[in-house]
Amino acid sequence: MAAGLLVVLSGPSGVGKGTVCELLCHYRPSLQISVSLTTRPPRPGEVAGVNYDFTTPDRFKELISQDAFLEWAVVYGHYYGTLKETVDSCLARGRDVLLEIDVQGALQIRRRMPEAVLIFLAPPSMEALCERITGRATEGAEDIKRRLEAAQQEMAAYSHYDYLVVNDKVDKAAASINAIIEAEKCRISRGARPPGWGGEA
Ligand code: 5GP
Repeated sequence: MAAGLLVVLSGPSGVGKGTVCELLCHYRPSLQISVSLTTRPPRPGEVAGVNYDFTTPDRFKELISQDAFLEWAVVYGHYYGTLKETVDSCLARGRDVLLEIDVQGALQIRRRMPEAVLIFLAPPSMEALCERITGRATEGAEDIKRRLEAAQQEMAAYSHYDYLVVNDKVDKAAASINAIIEAEKCRISRGARPPGWGGEA
C-alpha cells in the first residue's frame, strides 16, 4: 500500500488553525489528525486523545531520551511533542496525517521528514489577526499583545513553506488546503516528488 501523506499546518498563533483542521477533516474523513502530547493540565472541555494526550514532565523527558518525537518544544513552560510512533504507523498504513503545530515545530519536522508538505496559514493582515484574537475575548490585553508580537515574527517564516494559504474565510482556507492535498496525492501517485523534497528549512 502506498505511504500516506504528512501534511503540516502551521501559522501564527490565533490564526484559526484548529477550526480549519476541523473543516478539513469534514471534507476528508480519511484524514488522521495526530494528537500532541503535553505536560500542561487539561483545560475545561478538553478531551484526552482528541485535543491532546496529557502526561507528566518525567514521562515526557523519558520519551525525549528515547527519541520518540517528530519534534518537541517548550511553549510557555510546558513540554509539547508529537508522538512519532502515531504518525509513522498511520503513514505506513497509507493514511494521510494532518499535523497542527506551531511554526518552529513545523520547521523542525521538515528537517526530519523532508517529504512532509508544509502549509503556512496566514491572516489577510495583522489587523485582521488582531480583530480575530480580540473578538474571541478569552485573553487579557497582555496575552493579546504577546500573541501579536509572536505572530509578527512567525509571519517571516512563510517562505520556508511549500504553500501559503491566506485565511480570510476559514471555509475558503480549508477548501484551498483540501485542493492542495488532492494535488499532492496525484503528484505522488505519478511518482513525482512534492515541491518540498530535499528543500532546506
Ligand atoms: P496550547 O497549549 O495553547 O493549545 O498550545 C500552545 C502552543 O503550543 C500553540 O502555539 C500550539 O501551536 C503549540 N503546540 C501545541 N502542540 C504542539 C506540539 O506538539 N509541538 C509544538 N512545537 N508546538 C505545539
